[in-house]
Amino acid sequence: MKQFFFDERTRKALKIMAMPFQYKVCAGCDSIVAERVNSCPNCHGYRFYEDGDSVISQARVLASRPQQSVTAEDLHK
Ligand SMILES: [Zn+2]
Repeated sequence: MKQFFFDERTRKALKIMAMPFQYKVCAGCDSIVAERVNSCPNCHGYRFYEDGDSVISQARVLASRPQQSVTAEDLHK
C-alpha cells in the first residue's frame, strides 16, 4: 500500500494550482504571491505575471523542487 505525504511546500503548490486566479508570479524573483498585493513581499518588485498559465507553471516548479534543508554551508554564506 502506497501513501503520499505532502510537505508544506507541495500542499501550498496544489492549493495555488487549484485557484491560480487568486495568485500572481513576481517578475523579479519568481515568487508566487497573493493576487491582492501591490508589491512583492520578497523583493519589493511591482511587476507580475498575472495570467493563470504562469502561476500554474511556477507552482509546478515549486512543488517539484526538493525540500530545502539548512546545511552548514548555508549558515556560512
Ligand atoms: Zn519578488
